[in-house]
Amino acid sequence: MPENYTIAFLGLGHMGGPMAVNLVRAGYTVAGFDVVPAALDAARASGVPVAASAAEAASGAAVVLTMFPSGRHVLDAYRGSDGGPGLLAAAAPGTMFLDCSTINVDEAREAARLAIDAGHRSVDAPVSGGVVGAEAGTLTFMAGGDPEDFEAVRPLLEVMGKRVVHCGAHGAGQAAKICNNLILGASMIAVSEAFVLGEKLGLSHQALFDVASAASGQCWALTTNCPVPGPVPTSPANRDYQPGFAGALMAKDLKLALNALQSTGVAARVGPLAAEIYDTFAAEGGAGRDFSGIITDIRDKSGARDGAGNVPVPGRDGARGTASTHAAQDDGSPE
Ligand code: NAD
Repeated sequence: MPENYTIAFLGLGHMGGPMAVNLVRAGYTVAGFDVVPAALDAARASGVPVAASAAEAASGAAVVLTMFPSGRHVLDAYRGSDGGPGLLAAAAPGTMFLDCSTINVDEAREAARLAIDAGHRSVDAPVSGGVVGAEAGTLTFMAGGDPEDFEAVRPLLEVMGKRVVHCGAHGAGQAAKICNNLILGASMIAVSEAFVLGEKLGLSHQALFDVASAASGQCWALTTNCPVPGPVPTSPANRDYQPGFAGALMAKDLKLALNALQSTGVAARVGPLAAEIYDTFAAEGGAGRDFSGIITDIRDKSGARDGAGNVPVPGRDGARGTASTHAAQDDGSPE
């Protein structure tokens, strides 16, 4: 990478905005751009220098970093659309195209092929850690691309994240991301079903947590993002399921996982079901709630009564006790 190079940072939304700020604070020269004027203004107000267009930002940069909603946005921007110049054409030969968006594996491979065919370099590096991680510079990056290209962007990624993993060839970063989130979505559903079953069987949340968190049911969905209030005070369940990791994003990532399961012919049953469950959750009001709020859907659809005909309510043992049926939460609200 040349000395004192410029990073074109395109897509200054919830994630990209604070990531760009961290690069500026670390001393990098950034030229930001977003098609939404409000995002551009917010970035400018946070100290990120902005360009008049994406093409202008890309033309003077050694790295073109994209943080877009979907693969369609990435591919359209690379190629150009609506008669506008594409980023691949606007950039100087040998520019590094670093895409940090979460997109389909096939789209990531296509984006890399387009970049390389145009004489550029390419790394896919989706993230986990959410807006909080973007602001704190503690994201995890999962990268795919040639080892030397990965090493070239590693210092940038280490400014924006605390953990950076090279997962393999082009598309491997996206592959790692959706495989992880397939585990996460499916395990959250399983943990939530187990808690609702425990409620039906008269088992307190704390008792189930104390056993499962120290036994073979242990997982992140249980011990960090516990879907019931009480056992893990920092989990979103304790703040009315404010995200956290929003249901819309889980639905999106599971759709990407589903696409990959289908295109590769994996004989999966849980993954497609998890994708369907989160798609419904997002469509029925869960899009802006933490994905652990799926437990309230499961409980509502189960009839909120335990094995003795009582409705679980917060209470005994630092967790749920039971109350008579007239206390039913018929409004479907979380606990
Ligand atoms: P966002 O919608 O807030 O931001 C995306 C930005 O890209 C928008 O401001 C949009 O205007 C801009 N954009 C789209 N096309 C553009 C173009 N051609 N040129 C310039 N700007 C363009 O989304 P986000 O929450 O910041 O997420 C970004 C990506 O990160 C997504 O792929 C998402 O799946 C992934 N991600 C998000 C989170 C999260 O918690 N928000 C966590 C992990 C990964």
